[in-house]
Amino acid sequence: MCVSCRQMFDRRELLRVVKSPDGVVSVDVTGKKNGRGAYICSNPKCIDKSAKGLLGKHLGCEIPPQIYEEIRSAYGDKKQS
Ligand SMILES: [Zn+2]
Repeated sequence: MCVSCRQMFDRRELLRVVKSPDGVVSVDVTGKKNGRGAYICSNPKCIDKSAKGLLGKHLGCEIPPQIYEEIRSAYGDKKQS
């Protein structure tokens, strides 16, 4: 489920952002990283919303700005292929 629009999606259509047990936030393209995860769909509105604090709220920490760039570029790459 997307944390922003709360719609159900196939796992392949969502991107997982993970906070590892030691507090490091990363974009989990494999879906196999340990830690607390939040899913975001490819809707640009959802990515914007997550960037406005939703993701940080969900994971309970500050999200580095480059994470959102990674999310955008990950979805950008998907559209091209
Ligand atoms: Zn969404």
